[in-house]
Amino acid sequence: MEDRAIFPGASTIIKVRTIDDRKRSYADLPPKLLGGSLCLDYVNTVEWRGDPEDPMDRLTSYPELPRWAAAVGTMSGAEARRLERDARNRPGAAAAMLRDAVALREALARLLTRTEFRQIEDLAVVNGMLARAPARAQIVEEEPGFAWRYGRGGDAMEQPLWPVLWDAADLLTSDRLDRVRRCGDKRCGWLFLDLSRNRSRRWCAMETCGNRAKARRHYARHKADDD
Ligand SMILES: [Zn+2]
Repeated sequence: MEDRAIFPGASTIIKVRTIDDRKRSYADLPPKLLGGSLCLDYVNTVEWRGDPEDPMDRLTSYPELPRWAAAVGTMSGAEARRLERDARNRPGAAAAMLRDAVALREALARLLTRTEFRQIEDLAVVNGMLARAPARAQIVEEEPGFAWRYGRGGDAMEQPLWPVLWDAADLLTSDRLDRVRRCGDKRCGWLFLDLSRNRSRRWCAMETCGNRAKARRHYARHKADDD
């Protein structure tokens, strides 16, 4: 699978995982938003992306898309529930949309990291979906700030992806692209925007990946002392 080849190389730590982990829905367990840009958080809907054996995709069915969008705040809960109902009425369209959503995510993962594993069609995948999306027609007041109002057009089922597409297009064409990093834990593989002044952020989160690395170094040092 090409997405496993994006970030080759994994550490040797064995992780413990229960069956229930596999069933986690964004309805019950909201996404961790560590990317610093919407499109990076979207790429991070795969956990353990860098694990060649066992990446965990949280977009397991179409309804996870509007649930994710509601959790990140690009869609209201009511809109998300309406899309879930639509998906039940149009199962074929929902399945196709999920495939497109995953294809978009993997294309973005490669484009945003400018990996050597880039595929020739990656940009076409993004541009095809951008062309189907409505225009960002107007800015309207929406407490506590402002929001885009969409123009006409586009398949409503694709709506959770529109803000992701726009954010990705903005990031890809900005000098912040230079700041896109992959977590220092190769198995984690999450992407984030390094906005630190000296460009030194190494981990998606210090509390998880950073601390695991610290514990590994600690263990290795003490093991060396014992030998
Ligand atoms: Zn990480």
